Amino acid sequence: MEKGQLVFSIRQCGNVGCRFRFPAAAGSEERCPQCGGATAVAATPYAKRDTAIAHPTPGLHLELLLDNIRSLYNVGSIFRTADGAGVKHVHLAGITATPEHPKLTKTALGADSQMGWSYSRNGVDTAVRLQAQGYRLWALEDAPEAMSLYEMGINGEDGRPVLLIVGNENVGVDPAILQRCERILAIPMLGVKDSLNVAVACGIAIYHLCFRVYGDT
Ligand SMILES: [Zn+2]
Repeated sequence: MEKGQLVFSIRQCGNVGCRFRFPAAAGSEERCPQCGGATAVAATPYAKRDTAIAHPTPGLHLELLLDNIRSLYNVGSIFRTADGAGVKHVHLAGITATPEHPKLTKTALGADSQMGWSYSRNGVDTAVRLQAQGYRLWALEDAPEAMSLYEMGINGEDGRPVLLIVGNENVGVDPAILQRCERILAIPMLGVKDSLNVAVACGIAIYHLCFRVYGDT
């Protein structure tokens, strides 16, 4: 635990008809939020690892283009995930908020201060410029021609950086960018909803792309 951090434990209500079990700050005389009965510490948390789980350096140089993401919370969440997966740079465009926005900083929990980022007013211009520099353009989008993220072939990774483009919550990836993409990737959906929250979808894609094994198979 970090210095000054509240230490939490799991408490349980002693009332046999209740048994409500919940996390609470250690040392507090918590009454049961459900029945008002007396509670006691039932478990103390596991110690966290001193170091993150090790993994070989991702075999893919991945950067993101967040084009016209409406929600500050989605942008902050994506920054945090991108930082965790070793994404190299985050390009922001259009209405997407930049890390200078205080609400974004709160959601990103500091990850935004580590991650290199840049902003342009026009996401198509950014995609065109990076493509001209040799970046592969891959979009995350439920387009008719999309392939499943998990069925994507392994060939074609020749060390060129990849720009993964994520678009607006309502409109999706800008068609002018989509038509330039060499791959359009979608996440399989088995439930009643036909799409995921954009930050969740982006997180799944980032982790899959960064930590899958790239080789000469
Ligand atoms: Zn209770």
